Amino acid sequence: MSHVAANAKYAVWNGRHLIAGEWRGAAAGTFEDRNPARPAELLGVYPRATAAEVDAAVVAARKAFAPWRRTSRIRRGDLFDNLARLIQRDLDELAAVMARENGKLLNEARAEIVEGLHMVQYVFGTARQPIGEVVASEIEAKDLYVRRKPRGVVAVITPWNFPFAVPLWMLGPSLLEGNTVVFKPSEETPEIGERLVRLFVEAGFPTGTVNLVHGIGEEAGDALARHEDVDVVCFTGSYDVGSHIRRLAAESGRKTCACEMGSKSAVIVCEDANLDLAVQATVLSAFKTTGQRCVSAGRAIVHEKVFDRFAATLVERARGLRFADPFDANAFAGPLVNQAGLDKVLYYNALAGEERATVLLDGGRIAGDDRASGYFASPFIYRQEHRPGVRTIREEVFGPHLAVIPFRDDEHAVEIHNDTPYGLSMAVITEDYRRWRYYRDECEYGMGYVNLPCIGAEVHLPFGGVKRSGNGQPSAAGLVESVTHRTAFTVNHAREIAMAQGMSAQVK
Ligand code: NAD
Repeated sequence: MSHVAANAKYAVWNGRHLIAGEWRGAAAGTFEDRNPARPAELLGVYPRATAAEVDAAVVAARKAFAPWRRTSRIRRGDLFDNLARLIQRDLDELAAVMARENGKLLNEARAEIVEGLHMVQYVFGTARQPIGEVVASEIEAKDLYVRRKPRGVVAVITPWNFPFAVPLWMLGPSLLEGNTVVFKPSEETPEIGERLVRLFVEAGFPTGTVNLVHGIGEEAGDALARHEDVDVVCFTGSYDVGSHIRRLAAESGRKTCACEMGSKSAVIVCEDANLDLAVQATVLSAFKTTGQRCVSAGRAIVHEKVFDRFAATLVERARGLRFADPFDANAFAGPLVNQAGLDKVLYYNALAGEERATVLLDGGRIAGDDRASGYFASPFIYRQEHRPGVRTIREEVFGPHLAVIPFRDDEHAVEIHNDTPYGLSMAVITEDYRRWRYYRDECEYGMGYVNLPCIGAEVHLPFGGVKRSGNGQPSAAGLVESVTHRTAFTVNHAREIAMAQGMSAQVK
């Protein structure tokens, strides 16, 4: 098979932190990186950062901050142009590293590297954009400026499911705006994280501007999120960890945080929908990337008049999907990321039965061939009524697990849609322009789509959600507001002082 050849050339990666420009091995323990399609295959061994190493990385970032923020913004931008060229040079290799490490199909891994590249190109372009505004004053001789300034040291803590694009959504705007960073990639995908940092170094980013610490979330991640000299924490990951980071930021009394978290996204299929398009959009939303996108649909909310026809076609299409090695050219999606991810899916599949669901496609662990040792699962689809207390239609599963929920009318569909703690992504399938406008305005979400899957992002849009999905500080193009603060700056061009609001400036 092609993946054997694709994998054969790689040696086990010997991971390193990058602290103050120095590549450092383990001071204490290490952790292993394994291939989720064949867990016996060891991909790399990484140092497990201690609080002291995290501190050294923050100290290095602080030291680099003043010279970096004083560097011309255009010059900072030029380094992103260098970085873009390096990513283009290494595109195929980076995609292969990601596919092996997190189980994403090679084609999808490539698309994610391209998304990261787009972020770098976007950041390069914005270097020459205004950094503020000039506004009028009540006083003729005064000029008022609003200028964005960098906040300082930014901690970047990221998940495994988008291990290249998500870090770049954060590292790109943070660095361009003049901040310095300490980056902690997920312990599930350390190699692609380290490869990215090596490219930053090669592109010429000065010592200390980008620091890398590998490690376990509860150790290195926690130490970084709590560090007193971190100004901003940019986090993407689960709600539980995100809410912990929000608490730490609030307790610090000075730190800000931008948190993108989980979801229970949905595709809403209206009675007038093009059903072929609806099924295709649902399959992509629910099962692409093995349901492991933050925006993956855990719910299809379907009008009762078209429910049976839609469900029958959906099940037929889902049954034919191939979940296999990421390098298998015929695969639709790969494995789950690890044993915990697989166990979670199997738990929720069983829970659906306990919650009196009608199972339409009884997927589960794939056994009986060479996939049996990997974390492979096939689609599980069930009909569930919208009732209070049903957990499977409200909680994030993060795998190929889909509830199909019938609705009576548009108001009912919106009620179902909004009845989860999350609000990240929503697609509505309809031919009626009045109808999609209603869903656009009434549903709670951060990203909305019409006649499309509820997945897919472009870097020049903000990427974020509401409720437990995000704290209103979106990533990608939206991140600039989180990593800068707006200063008001007033200059008097007269020889005497005049105050606004008619206040007297006389000193008697
Ligand atoms: P996770 O929350 O387990 O881990 C995310 C990162 O946080 C990792 O780097 C981890 O090491 C670190 N971490 C863990 N515990 C920590 C702690 N106590 N203190 C500080 N850092 C800690 O999430 P995951 O399993 O890597 O990713 C999947 C989750 O991410 C899903 O819930 C998914 O919806 C979400 N996600 C959201 C978005 C979005 O934009 N909303 C995008 C991608 C993924």
